[in-house]
Amino acid sequence: MSSYALDLDTLAASIKEWGRELGFQQTGITGVALGEHEAYLERWLAEGYHGEMDYMAAHGQKRSRPDELVPGTLRIVSLRMDYLPGDTDMAKRLADPTHAYVSRYALGRDYHKLIRKRLQQLAERIQSTIGPFGYRAFVDSAPVLEKALAEKAGLGWIGKNTLVLNRKAGSYFFLGELFTDLPLPVDEPHPSNHCGRCSACMAICPTQAFVAPYVLDARRCISYLTIELKGPIPEELRPLVGNRVFGCDDCQIVCPWNRFAKPTAQPDFQPRHNLDNSDLVTLFRWTEEEFLSRTEGSPLRRAGYERWLRNLAVALGNAPTSIPVIEALKAHQQHPSPLVREHVEWALGRHASV
Ligand code: SF4
Ligand code: SF4
Repeated sequence: MSSYALDLDTLAASIKEWGRELGFQQTGITGVALGEHEAYLERWLAEGYHGEMDYMAAHGQKRSRPDELVPGTLRIVSLRMDYLPGDTDMAKRLADPTHAYVSRYALGRDYHKLIRKRLQQLAERIQSTIGPFGYRAFVDSAPVLEKALAEKAGLGWIGKNTLVLNRKAGSYFFLGELFTDLPLPVDEPHPSNHCGRCSACMAICPTQAFVAPYVLDARRCISYLTIELKGPIPEELRPLVGNRVFGCDDCQIVCPWNRFAKPTAQPDFQPRHNLDNSDLVTLFRWTEEEFLSRTEGSPLRRAGYERWLRNLAVALGNAPTSIPVIEALKAHQQHPSPLVREHVEWALGRHASV
C-alpha cells in the first residue's frame, strides 16, 4: 500500500469523488453492524411476508451480517444511481386502462450490468491508488440488506413505503454496494426520518399491501405479483392490479419527496421499444420471439414470456370491454400454458357480462 494507507480520510473523500465521476449521485460508507435491521428482517420473514421469495430467507444471518457473507469485510461503500427517465407521462399511462403501465425502473436497459461495471471501475481506481485490497461488488443482490446499509451510510431514511428516501432526490434510484476490507472512516447514519405524519403511500396502495407503516406484505404487492410470483395471481387481487403489467410505482408517485427527484442523464435508463406508451392489446400480441428480442437486456426478461402474458391478461381483464380487447384475449385462449389460459379465461369472464 502507498501513503494512502495512512490517510484513509483522503481515500474516503477520493472514493466519493470517483463515485460521482462514475455516474453515482451519492456515496456513503458504513460499518458491518446492522443492529435493529436484523431483528426487523427476522420478524418480517417469520410473518411470511416474503411469500415465494425464498432467497430472502436463504443465507441465514449472512444477510444482516456482511462480514459473515464476505469474511474480512470491514466497511460497505453504498452508492446511489438515479434512474427516473425524464417525463415519460407515466401518471397519464396509469390512468388510461387501455395502456400498459411498466414500472419506471424497468423502461430502459437492465441496471445490474451497468452498475456492476461501474462498481468494478471504482474498485480498480482504488486499487490503482493503494494497491491490491479485498472487495466484492453487489447490485440488488439477494444476500445484501442494501436499504439498511444505505440508511446507515447516510444516503437517506427508510420511509413508510419501505424504500430509501432522500430529501433532495426522492426514491427513484438504484443502490449498489462495494464490500471492502479497508478500515475507511464511516459516515453518520441518516439522522432523521422525514415521513412525519404523512401516510400517502399506505393510503394509495391499490392492494393495501402495507400491514403497518414500514411493513410491507410482499404477497399483496403488485411488484411481487407481476414479477416474482411464478404461479397464478390470486383472483381477489386481480381487479386491483389494474393496468400494471410489470411492477408498480404508486407508493413512489404519491410520495411528496419525489417532487425533488431529478431525471437521469444516463442513456441506459431511457425507455426502449415504446414501453412507456404501449397499449395492452399491442403488447399482448407480441410473439415469444418478439418478446425475447424486444426485452433483450431489459429487466422485463425477469418475468419471462409466460408471466408477461399472464400479467397482460389480467390487465386486459381490467380494461374497458372492446372488440380489440376480446379478440386479443381469444387469440390466446388455446395457449399451451395452463397459466396463461386460466388468466385469459378469467379476463374473458370479466367481459362476458357486459
Ligand atoms: S409497489 Fe404498488 S402494490 Fe406494492 S406496496 Fe407500493 S403501491 Fe402497493
Ligand atoms: S408517501 Fe409519505 S409516508 Fe410514504 S414514504 Fe413518502 S413521505 Fe413517507
